[in-house]
Amino acid sequence: MPFRTPKLKSVRVRFIIIMSFLVVYVLATYIIAEKYFFIKRKGNTSAPKVELEYVVVHLDLKGAPPKLSYLQSLLPMMKKHGVNGLLIEYEDMFPYEGTLGMLRGLNSYKKKELHAYLTAAVSLGFEIIPLVQTFGHMEFVLKYQEFGFLREALKFPDSICPSTLESQHLVEDMIAQVILFHEAIAPLKYIHVGCNEVYHINKCDLCRRRNATDEELLTEHVKFLIETVHILSPDTTVLIWDDMYRGVKPMDCSNIILTETEVVHWDYTAKPHVDVHINMYKYGRMFDNIWIATAFKGADGRERILPDLNMRFYNHLHWLNFIFDYGTLKKLFKIKGIILTGWSRYDHYAPLCEILPASIPSLIINLILIQKYTSGIVVKNMNDLDVFIDKHIENNLDSSLLCQKHSERFLNKFDSETCHYEESDLYTTLQLLSNAYKYFVIKKNASNDEKSRIEYEYENIKRIVPISALKEFNNVHN
Ligand SMILES: [Zn+2]
Repeated sequence: MPFRTPKLKSVRVRFIIIMSFLVVYVLATYIIAEKYFFIKRKGNTSAPKVELEYVVVHLDLKGAPPKLSYLQSLLPMMKKHGVNGLLIEYEDMFPYEGTLGMLRGLNSYKKKELHAYLTAAVSLGFEIIPLVQTFGHMEFVLKYQEFGFLREALKFPDSICPSTLESQHLVEDMIAQVILFHEAIAPLKYIHVGCNEVYHINKCDLCRRRNATDEELLTEHVKFLIETVHILSPDTTVLIWDDMYRGVKPMDCSNIILTETEVVHWDYTAKPHVDVHINMYKYGRMFDNIWIATAFKGADGRERILPDLNMRFYNHLHWLNFIFDYGTLKKLFKIKGIILTGWSRYDHYAPLCEILPASIPSLIINLILIQKYTSGIVVKNMNDLDVFIDKHIENNLDSSLLCQKHSERFLNKFDSETCHYEESDLYTTLQLLSNAYKYFVIKKNASNDEKSRIEYEYENIKRIVPISALKEFNNVHN
């Protein structure tokens, strides 16, 4: 039997101690490394986010066209908030020429100044999408005696008859002038040809003799528009509003295939509508791509002075959650882009609703919201909405609008008096006007003293504000 000396014993003890240290060292290194790599792995796993190729702001020039210098001053703010496209609805503000010269409003933009504005926008990376009405909402054309005979219903100037050669020549000429003007600045990737709210369709004898449904007439007209655009500019994609196709039954949608066309599905309500799901199913089969249109102004009443910030926020939130669920998680639809519409009046003859300078807070709130969703910060649970608004919207809004103190919760009351952005004084005054108006209308039971005070306040503000606001920001004809 081997004899164990004390020296050998101490070697064994030292060996065990060293090995123990080694094991602890390796284990600790492994744990730290695992933790590090785990964190790294976690960090590399990006949160699902809404993906939008385009975030577009709609400039509706009907009725209260802004000065181009003012529009140009908004470009850096829009770019900072993620906008990369402008949908410009010219109506009578485009510098039409020749027989179309009469369509120009008295305050229409001059070619040179419009060219300069568009060049500035393009150089900042904005995609310019001109909008030309070619079917409905053609009051600014059909109101003239020279074009009145092209109306679908002679008593109504809104819709053009698609079945005459004269109508087609008129529309071709409008599209050609707009395309050529824009292509002299930059290649035109998209043109929007309207086709919404065609209130009078398939009414005249000529159209009825074609023995077609409303949708068939519309589709034929859209195909003619696509052909017209492609002859002039083969690489330009045509956009149309969706509402005239909402009546198509899901089982019939495969009969209407419009290639090289992208549809803009608009809904400005605060709550999702069940039809939206059906429409998306149909449009996914009928069109190359789908766009979504929200509204940051002009959707809360024909004579409204300021946008309803609550409604506008929920409208965007609803759509973004929809895009997140259907586009990001379920991969059911590829949504090309979002268009934040900003309506200036409901039609050519309607009174003005919210003007653009009064709607800057609404625009910025909703652009911030979109930026959050496209960076992966989303509201998955509506119980978290208050925290989300507080943390991600209001702080950013305060810094964007140069508010000195944290503004009151905007969904209830946006406090512009503490803010110092260019249009903040206008907002504050219009808010007074709006409140006075509400009191004046609502408080019919008020005492005589109260009534006269409200009336005095209302009349005073009404006299001063809109005129000065329009002169400061809008292209007013003198
Ligand atoms: Zn007709």
